[in-house]
Amino acid sequence: MRPRGSARVGRQTDADDLAVVRSIDSYLIGARGRRFIDFTSGWCVGNFGWEDRGIRAAIKTFKGPTYIYPDYRYKAWDELAALLSDLTPVNLTRCFRATGGSEAVDLALQAAMVHTGRSKFISLENSYDGNTIGALSVGSGDRDTLPNLMRNCYRIKPPLARRAADHVETMLKRREVAALIMEPISINLGVLIGEEEFFERVANLCRRYGTLFIADEVATGFGRTGKLFAVEHYNLRPDIMCLAKAITGGFNPMGAMLTTAAVGRSMEKKGSFYSTYGWHPLSVAAALAALRPLRRGRKDFLKHVNALSKLFAHRLASIPFRTTPEIRVRGLAIALEFRSEQEALRIVERAIRAGVLLTAEGSIVLLLPPLTMSEKVAEKGLSILRACA
Ligand code: PMP
Repeated sequence: MRPRGSARVGRQTDADDLAVVRSIDSYLIGARGRRFIDFTSGWCVGNFGWEDRGIRAAIKTFKGPTYIYPDYRYKAWDELAALLSDLTPVNLTRCFRATGGSEAVDLALQAAMVHTGRSKFISLENSYDGNTIGALSVGSGDRDTLPNLMRNCYRIKPPLARRAADHVETMLKRREVAALIMEPISINLGVLIGEEEFFERVANLCRRYGTLFIADEVATGFGRTGKLFAVEHYNLRPDIMCLAKAITGGFNPMGAMLTTAAVGRSMEKKGSFYSTYGWHPLSVAAALAALRPLRRGRKDFLKHVNALSKLFAHRLASIPFRTTPEIRVRGLAIALEFRSEQEALRIVERAIRAGVLLTAEGSIVLLLPPLTMSEKVAEKGLSILRACA
């Protein structure tokens, strides 16, 4: 075979100047052994710190089957479904298997359609819920390339306050909206935090007009915002929750769509959700090892997240940036919104050169550190960031 020297993975933008060879705790290790403090966690994947010993051991000592055909029984599937259902704050007792967040979101959209018999959706303008055609249709994808599906989605504009809730009411009154889908705290929109009143009204409206509420907790789930799930900040009772990312601590791909028994029944009757690699045995072993400790240790885990959150908020507010950013913090979902994209990029690039990994979305710099980061490492990263301001 002719060698294809120019083959490479597809990319939307140039790669950052970092070739990763290892990851440990709150650090990524580069090719020449350089340690980088990770304030990104692979975008909310490494919540439990990289190379968690318990998860690694579960994978290393795994003696189970290579693969399970979806029609067969597998005890660990039921165990994981029960554990997820236990951890979530509402009675979501039906778990559907997926390989990642986009697939979980697609399943959620499908479940809402088969259950309600409707096909329209409401989402937040410019939000991101994944890259399948379904998820793109409710997200911010290019409307010219996906015109038909896009027409089935109404968008609400932040701020998430009274006017946005009025807008939701106008749309729901037509009784054609299957579901409203959103991140309860939108990390993709730069830690967008809605008003309590907005959520209270929207939840009531959804109930009144037969519209389901889908909480996309792919990024916010498993402690990121200082509660185990972001819906808990608002006492929201979603009909469907989408989970992925941190679910296996980053070791294996996995997604999950959790819903009520009633929606689950509709899905089982009319839906299509075969997933060849959904909940692969090794991924399930990793997820159980990642999440079992949360059932027992949730309180201490969240206590650390909230203490670290205060430290970040305090230190960031005292950094003399060239232009003062707006700082938004919920747990360890932290956004610094600058006036320009160039300013955000300048800081991210300087920080990487200095050994701290950040990520930028337009004019917003995001800090999403591992939730297990020690105060010492956090202080060190923040003082490096201060020198890059
Ligand atoms: N929903 C949200 C809120 C996300 O942030 C992402 C990924 N960034 C997804 C869905 C899609 O997840 P995945 O990349 O695992 O398909």
